Amino acid sequence: MSNNKPMPVATEISAPFWEGLKAERLLIQQCEHCSHWVFYPRRHCPACFTHALTWREVSGGATLYSFTVTRIATLPDFADEMPQMLAVVELDQGVRINTNLVGLDESEVKIGMRLQPVFAEVDGKGNRLLRFTGLDKDADALKTLRVVEQPVAAAVAVRQIALDDEAGLQALVSDQFSPWSNQVVVDQALIDTFAQLSGDDYWIHTDPERARKQSPFGGTIAHGALVQILQSRMKLNLGYEITGFSNMINYGSDRLRFPAPVPAGSTIHARARVKKVERVKSGTQLTLELNTHVLGSERPSVINELVILYM
Ligand SMILES: [Zn+2]
Repeated sequence: MSNNKPMPVATEISAPFWEGLKAERLLIQQCEHCSHWVFYPRRHCPACFTHALTWREVSGGATLYSFTVTRIATLPDFADEMPQMLAVVELDQGVRINTNLVGLDESEVKIGMRLQPVFAEVDGKGNRLLRFTGLDKDADALKTLRVVEQPVAAAVAVRQIALDDEAGLQALVSDQFSPWSNQVVVDQALIDTFAQLSGDDYWIHTDPERARKQSPFGGTIAHGALVQILQSRMKLNLGYEITGFSNMINYGSDRLRFPAPVPAGSTIHARARVKKVERVKSGTQLTLELNTHVLGSERPSVINELVILYM
């Protein structure tokens, strides 16, 4: 799974709910005055407005109230969970919870079906989210973190090279690229966000229907500039670390090309090599050739000869 998924932030009022999930217990509030059950966590009872709310453990027995199947990730970080079954579940106490269904095939999901809670591990730090599954499923098996293996850069020993070590710096120059970085999904939602941000909302990026008919690529494609800046999301292990400088500046690019399109929905990754190291008046310039490819594609989508100035 991706490590960048946004996590709920517990507040003073909601903390007992999240702490309960960590302990694999479902705690919701009940009003001492009128017995009304309350969810989401609140400071007062929405039925009688008293503040006499008490946290009580409930079984998690529930019924499916509504659901939808999402096939496009809302954030690239959720691409490994597609399709997602987003649901509104009604606990036996009558409160409704927005959640996900897990361990169920789409064909098994029916409004009104009985559900049990899954205290789903999400980050290896003990945080859990409340999800639900069918009564005939193994909720314990489903709660364990599902790690999607990603071919990440193989461990490469990091050499430290001092900025004044001329021979050491020149030895970094190579025709060999680093191992591949982690992977990033470029979906339509991300392209739309970038279109909004940049003002470049040309139909070839933002109108899937028109692009299907008229685009030479058979669908929408990402902006070259978007794919270029996504290089920041890709962690590279270049095998070296330069030490002994006081400042490092992104000096721009010697060369920037977009040789191949990135269709919406593509997974991309990057690799790099040191192309050149030169002494200049203001310091030492290192030219890093950073190439982004669609997974499995020989031809790069972005060639960026990034100039980094060390002073
Ligand atoms: Zn009340």
